[in-house]
Amino acid sequence: MAGITPKIAIIGAGPAGLMLASILHHSNISCTLFERDSSAVARAQGGTLDIHEYSGQRALDAAGLLDEFRTVMRQGGDAIRILTKNGTVLFEHNGEHEGVSTEGEDGTDSKFVKGRPEIDRPALKNLLIASLLVDTIHWSSKVRSVTPVPDSQKWNIQLDDDSEPVTFDLVVGADGAWSRTRALLTEQQPRFTRGITALDVWCHNVDEAAPDVSRFVGPGSCFLFEKDRGLFFQRNGQGSKADARCLACVKMSTLTPPSPAFSVKRILLAMHEQPVLRVTLVGDSAHLMTPFAGVGVNVAMMDALELVRGIVDCFRMGNADGEGLAVMLQQYEKGMFARSGEEAAKTEAAMHLQFQEGGAEKMVDIIKSAGSNPEDIVFE
Ligand SMILES: Cc1cc2nc3c(=O)[nH]c(=O)nc-3n(C[C@H](O)[C@H](O)[C@H](O)COP(=O)(O)OP(=O)(O)OC[C@H]3O[C@@H](n4cnc5c(N)ncnc54)[C@H](O)[C@@H]3O)c2cc1C
Repeated sequence: MAGITPKIAIIGAGPAGLMLASILHHSNISCTLFERDSSAVARAQGGTLDIHEYSGQRALDAAGLLDEFRTVMRQGGDAIRILTKNGTVLFEHNGEHEGVSTEGEDGTDSKFVKGRPEIDRPALKNLLIASLLVDTIHWSSKVRSVTPVPDSQKWNIQLDDDSEPVTFDLVVGADGAWSRTRALLTEQQPRFTRGITALDVWCHNVDEAAPDVSRFVGPGSCFLFEKDRGLFFQRNGQGSKADARCLACVKMSTLTPPSPAFSVKRILLAMHEQPVLRVTLVGDSAHLMTPFAGVGVNVAMMDALELVRGIVDCFRMGNADGEGLAVMLQQYEKGMFARSGEEAAKTEAAMHLQFQEGGAEKMVDIIKSAGSNPEDIVFE
């Protein structure tokens, strides 16, 4: 690669930060990833994620991980069943798609898995972690602040353990919903989604512990929608380790959001005449959205892919110093916000649809009108 090699820091080892680090590594670009958790299994990791053919899978491919993904994804995991509150099954799909997808105008078979194959979040993270050099991720490293180095375009990262600050040329916030890095770029904060509260309950080893629940949930997802209420069942894991999860959601408009305790001081940045250079965001830190259309992690993975493409182009053109990175980041953010804005609108529309009277019937109509391609589902 031509030109200088900027020191890149990523804050957060969730799917977005790990995907970014993995594609960078595959492109022979090193980075340092700071994660506040002590390990990948330090806390409950949540449930299954569907990885779309036209976004998440493309990012995995750019990291050279598509074949490994195929070995850990859940076949038939995108099976879906939609019921009314009375238990009438309105729609059922077994999750099987004929063959592999075709791509391009010549109609040749592509390497991507058709539809939305599911993977457990820990399995996705493990796949990405295993693709990195062992010293890439700094566990138990909570970032306390990111501050500009005077008279330079560099940034100091200060960890919570009071160690010496470390200096980087480019800082990428992948620190999720309550991102601190976001405050460097905008005053926007997450807002509570029209009072929808979810209770997260699990049935472990479901095939043995509760075979009737296992049959009810099926191999993928099972949804019951009704006005102001929704039950979202999912299968996680495989074989003897299969679990069933349910998010029981109710709409309660009177709840107020928790107040975030951001410690990054905007006042420091207000002292600068220039726009904020060489700091950007990927994933939920950039565009937190509701989970009702199952797109968030795919948008995050596309962010990683597009950002690495921009970084690699800068390197190739010997333009990774001076203003080169900053200009690239502006272009990346423009595309990222346009793309994620469309997806966020989709999840918002899905939420309205699902939580209204007759939501189950309306979801079935939409799925049927999309035909065989789940990417064509349009929520209005
Ligand atoms: C119930 C539910 C179901 C979902 N289902 C789907 C689905 O089926 N399909 C889909 O596409 N999306 C789904 N999503 C959305 C998806 O989970 C998110 O979009 C995705 O996790 C975003 O990844 P991320 O890496 O940006 O953020 P996160 O996963 O939140 O990761 C952020 C990381 O940053 C670390 N961190 C935070 N602050 C600091 C700090 N100061 N210093 C160091 N580290 C820090 C955190 O510990 C964490 O590891 C769902 C979301 C929910 C809530």
